[in-house]
Amino acid sequence: GAASPFLEPGTRTSANSLAIVHLSRDNLLPVILQESKGEVDGYAEGSVINTRFGSFPHTTLINQPWGAQVRASIVDTGSRGRKRKLQDQETAVEDSEGAGSTTTPGQATPKDLETASSGFVHILPPTPEVWTTSLPHRTQVVYTPDYSYILHRIRARPGMRIIEAGAGSGSFTHASVRAVYSGYPKADDDARGKVFSFEFNETRFHKMEAEVEAHGLKDLVKVSHRDVYNNGFLVDGKSPEAECVFLDLPAPWKALPHLSRSKPAGVEQDAPWVSPLRSDRTVHLCSFSPCIEQVTKTVEVMRQLGWMQIEMFEVSHKRVNVMRERVGLNMPTDRGSNLSPYDVGEAVQRLREVESKSKEFHERTQGVENGEVDVDMDDAPEAQKTNGTPAKGANESKAPISSSAKPYMMGRLIHRTEPEIKTHTSYLVFAVMPQEWTEEQEAAAFAQWPCGR
Ligand code: SAM
Repeated sequence: GAASPFLEPGTRTSANSLAIVHLSRDNLLPVILQESKGEVDGYAEGSVINTRFGSFPHTTLINQPWGAQVRASIVDTGSRGRKRKLQDQETAVEDSEGAGSTTTPGQATPKDLETASSGFVHILPPTPEVWTTSLPHRTQVVYTPDYSYILHRIRARPGMRIIEAGAGSGSFTHASVRAVYSGYPKADDDARGKVFSFEFNETRFHKMEAEVEAHGLKDLVKVSHRDVYNNGFLVDGKSPEAECVFLDLPAPWKALPHLSRSKPAGVEQDAPWVSPLRSDRTVHLCSFSPCIEQVTKTVEVMRQLGWMQIEMFEVSHKRVNVMRERVGLNMPTDRGSNLSPYDVGEAVQRLREVESKSKEFHERTQGVENGEVDVDMDDAPEAQKTNGTPAKGANESKAPISSSAKPYMMGRLIHRTEPEIKTHTSYLVFAVMPQEWTEEQEAAAFAQWPCGR
């Protein structure tokens, strides 16, 4: 099938592929873009995203460069398209914040028409990060601050094989497949970088399977419908040969015995025992639990089963907002989002300073062009310094210097932290299962020593 837009987005949006419609920073809408089915009375018939920023027919979003700003369209309000209503409702996505974004067939409400052509959206490629904030929640999910740390600690990298249970809403799945992706399998070849995902709830399992298919990840993510407490982690009786494991389960200690190298006491399984772990590598595991009681039980069983370097962490995530203060610059703001309460007086004062420096700089560079003065770029207005080529640019540019002051470079750079750390998500328990050494491997390793045995 086609490459996943999560892994190889290309340069433009395409039909029948997932794109993220960015309405505002906290309002992202995942949409599978549908091609127009033809024209009726001169109008393209197809799905339309209705938002409070206007109406956006899918056809206007297809074949756009990623990141493009797309303006709202006037949308036909006629009854055409109703016949496809049922079909389209399946793909309709309700905006969780109630901003009124829905995907409907060729329809727009009078309110949409009022705002049509005034609003705009940006169209973004899907990434695990935006997917995590916009995905349909079926369970609690693992968020970016946690999964980035987890994937780093379990050493997920291209070519690795990860076991994940339970799959839940697939937030971790998307992040982990990107981490291990090392290319699509060729012909009959089994992909090396792969995610083996297990889910016990039947509805969630089917949703995950459909999502993996729709996102072009079928060859790289194998979802199994399984109760891992009782039935372990083999896939079609074979070992996934995993070197990374992530457990997000209510009782991880019940799954741990199946993640042993050799058959532990009490595990029912027909001989011969097959371990889901890769034998010639150290295996790194993380178990994610919200309660400390779960952690205690998990650690106890880990010790019994020979896991080592057991450690517990908690990620305390704090958001730092970095922005440019644009008070008084008459710049478009984030869709009327509040101007910050940052001291206006100070900002205006700062603006005056920048303006006067800029004026002075113009006068001096004018002099340079006439061969009169040396220019020290340390005196250049901030925008010029960060943006242009130092000195050389100032000497050679025939264009007015202010033209290089990009809007996003204007204003003073400020940052603000959230006063409170976000509430507790989960405890992360990490552990290591050392590589298994056979006598032959031991002998081979010694033979490689320059001094021999
Ligand atoms: N990590 C997921 C994500 O980021 O979207 C969320 C996982 S959710 C918190 C836990 C999942 O484990 C649930 O979907 C649940 O059905 C599944 N589960 C619980 N017991 C299980 C078992 N014995 N075998 C497999 N899955 C199980």
